[in-house]
Amino acid sequence: MLYISTRGHPDRKHFCEILLEGLAPDGGLYLPERYPQVDAATLAKWRTLPYADLAFEILSLYIDDIPAADLHAICRKTYTREVFGTQEIVPLKPLEEGVFLEALSNGPTLAFKDMAMQLLGNLFEYELARRGEELNILGATSGDTGSAAEYAMRGKQGVRVFMTSPHGRMSPFQQAQMFSLQDANIHNIAIEGVFDDCQDIVKAVSNDLAFKRKYRIGTVNSINWARLLAQVVYYFAGYFQATGRPHPSPPPEGEGAKQKVSFTVPSGNFGNVCAGHVARMMGLPIAKLVVATNENDVLDEFFRTGIYRVRASQDTHETSSPSMDISKASNFERFVFDLLGRDGAKLRYLFAEELVAKGRFDLSHAVLVARDRYGFASGRSTHADRLATIRDTYRRFGTMIDTHTADGLKVAREQLQPGIPMVVLETALPIKFAATIVEALGREPERPAKFAGIEDLPKRVTVLPADAERVKQFIAAHCA
Ligand SMILES: *Cc1c(COP(=O)(O)O)cnc(C)c1O
Repeated sequence: MLYISTRGHPDRKHFCEILLEGLAPDGGLYLPERYPQVDAATLAKWRTLPYADLAFEILSLYIDDIPAADLHAICRKTYTREVFGTQEIVPLKPLEEGVFLEALSNGPTLAFKDMAMQLLGNLFEYELARRGEELNILGATSGDTGSAAEYAMRGKQGVRVFMTSPHGRMSPFQQAQMFSLQDANIHNIAIEGVFDDCQDIVKAVSNDLAFKRKYRIGTVNSINWARLLAQVVYYFAGYFQATGRPHPSPPPEGEGAKQKVSFTVPSGNFGNVCAGHVARMMGLPIAKLVVATNENDVLDEFFRTGIYRVRASQDTHETSSPSMDISKASNFERFVFDLLGRDGAKLRYLFAEELVAKGRFDLSHAVLVARDRYGFASGRSTHADRLATIRDTYRRFGTMIDTHTADGLKVAREQLQPGIPMVVLETALPIKFAATIVEALGREPERPAKFAGIEDLPKRVTVLPADAERVKQFIAAHCA
C-alpha cells in the first residue's frame, strides 16, 4: 500500500516513511491510494478475534514494510489487559435500548487517544531502532493528546517529546498528568495563547524544512496517519459487539446479513470520526457517522450548510469540553479529498488558497452527498446540554460520563433510527474534567488509585510566548 498527499504531490510513500513525518511536502495530509475492501466473509472471520489480532489484521492491509510477525508482536504488546483494563479492550456499555457507550478511555491517561498513541509509541521505537535513528516529536495539545503522547513515549529509546499546550487552559488534572512526568526525554512547553496558536507553531516549525531535517522533527498530532489507522480498529470492534447482541427491534427485511450500526463521535479535529469514515469506506456496514460538536461548531455548520468557515482565535470558545475547542478541524481535509473525488488540485485550491484568503469555502453543492453517500450527520451541544446529559445518565443508569462523551450522547439521541444500534464513543473519563462533573452532580468523580494526589507533585514545564522561533530555540537547546 502506498500513500499520497491530499494536495496532489506526485510522491508515493510507504507506511514507515510517513510514520515519522507529519504533513506531506505540499502541506497536504497523507491518505492511502485506495481503501482495502473487507467483504462479509472476512467480517465474519474477524468477529471473534481478540482485539490485538483484529488490529493486526486491519493494520496489515495498510502496512507492507513491516514483516507480519513483527507487526503482530507490536499489536499484541500494545493492546493488553494490563494497559487497557479489560480483556475486550473497548467494551460496550448498554444505556437505553439501542444505545451503547464504547469504552475507549481506560488506557494510561484515561482518554481515547491512548488507543492510538500506545501503538504509535511501539511503532516509533521499532522503526527508529531498525534505522538506528532518533526522533524529536513536536506536538500541540489542548490536554489529551499531550498526555497520551508523553505516556506512550516516556523512557523510549531514541525519542524526545516537545509538547506545546495553551498556558493555563488545561484542567488541573490534565496539567498534573503531563507536568508531573520527570522523564528526561519529555519536555512540556506552555504557550501563552490558545490551542490553535500551539497548532500553528507546530505547523510553522514543520514547514521549516531545514530545521525539521536538522533536528529530526516528527509529529504525533491527529494528522498522523498511523494514529488514524489505529483508531479504525475500534469501529470494527464496536460494530462486532453491537451486532452480537439481540437487536432492539427487528432489522428491516433482507438486512439481517448486514446489520448496520451508527456511531456518534465527539469531534474536534475530525481525527476520530475520520477513522470511522475510513472503516466505512472499507465496507464496514455503518449507517450514520454522527459528528457531535460543542459550542465550537465549525463541523456542525459544515454538515448542515456545506460552508466550512474557520474561526478566529478570539471567536473560539473556551468550553467545558475543552478537547473539542477548535477553530478549524485539521483532519477535515482528508474527508473533503474523498468527497470531491480525490482531486488534489481542487484540494490545493480550497485549502491553500481559498481558505487562506477568505477563511471559508462553500461546498453546499456537495453537502447532500456528504450526508447521503458518506453517511454523515451532525449536531451541537452546549454547556447546559452537557450538564443535563451527565445528570440524566447518572440518575437513570448510574453511569458517570465525561463532558465530551456527554456532547456525543446528547447529539446521538437526536439521530436514532429504529432497528439500528447507536454506539457513542466514550472519549475520556470524568475524572479528567472534575469541575464540570461537580457542577452537574454535586460530587467528585471517582479517581483511579494510581492518580491519587498527582496535583501536588512537582511540575516540569517551561512557559514561552506564542512564537515559533522561541520554540525552535528551546528545541535546539535541548537536543545537544
Ligand atoms: C481529542 C479529543 C476529542 C476530539 O477528537 P478529534 O479526533 O480531535 O475529533 C474529543 N474528546 C476528547 C476527550 C478528546 O481527548
